[in-house]
Amino acid sequence: MQVGLRQVFLRFAGCNLNCSFCDTPGMSEVPAECILEQTPGREDLVRVANPVTCERIVELIRGWTRNWPGLHHSISITGGEPLLHGRILEQWLPELRKLLPIYLETNGTLPKALAPLLPHLDYIGMDFKLPSATGCQPLWEEHRQFLELAAQKSVYVKLVAGATTTNEEVELSCRMIAEVDRKIPLILQPMTLPEGRLAISSRRALELQEVAGVLLDEVRVIPQTHKFLGVL
Ligand code: SF4
Repeated sequence: MQVGLRQVFLRFAGCNLNCSFCDTPGMSEVPAECILEQTPGREDLVRVANPVTCERIVELIRGWTRNWPGLHHSISITGGEPLLHGRILEQWLPELRKLLPIYLETNGTLPKALAPLLPHLDYIGMDFKLPSATGCQPLWEEHRQFLELAAQKSVYVKLVAGATTTNEEVELSCRMIAEVDRKIPLILQPMTLPEGRLAISSRRALELQEVAGVLLDEVRVIPQTHKFLGVL
């Protein structure tokens, strides 16, 4: 839902899943260094030994909010799967939220890790992982529990749809979302193939939107815009 808005990205390493289309693979180990951009959007990167401190991150973002007031909408906490770092986030989020609103981007499978962080979050973007697209085991129960908690905040659900995605999977996902609140927005995201084209046609994307639209009030089709823009 934040498409087109500028955000500060705080990317954490490691994930509990192994999706076939993952664009951040090889992050299972915590890297020796953290890469920081000094000036927003200028790619003037510096390397800092891990574990980087909260003070270092806060100092950097505070400088950005002071020198470029209003430029950033929020801080995107992303990964990998950031909820694997719940203890760190419990300490960091209250400090970061003094600077900008907090947006959590998550695969939506770790409800126990989400619960203690809810007071420090403003927006949540969660996935429903479709087995046909990810190659992973079904995670419906995890997603249901996660969404019930996340609905306390401003939340949307994202489905990545590939060539093998079925109407039935999308319908099952939407029924589950509607049981919590049919007003929760759904983003249908056509999978981007390694060569850069989309895995499904625009016609198929519209068909899936029609399936979802019967059950939910707001269904958007949004490809991975950062791939078009060529940003990480
Ligand atoms: S949940 Fe996200 S980060 Fe984890 S493997 Fe899947 S696509 Fe990659």
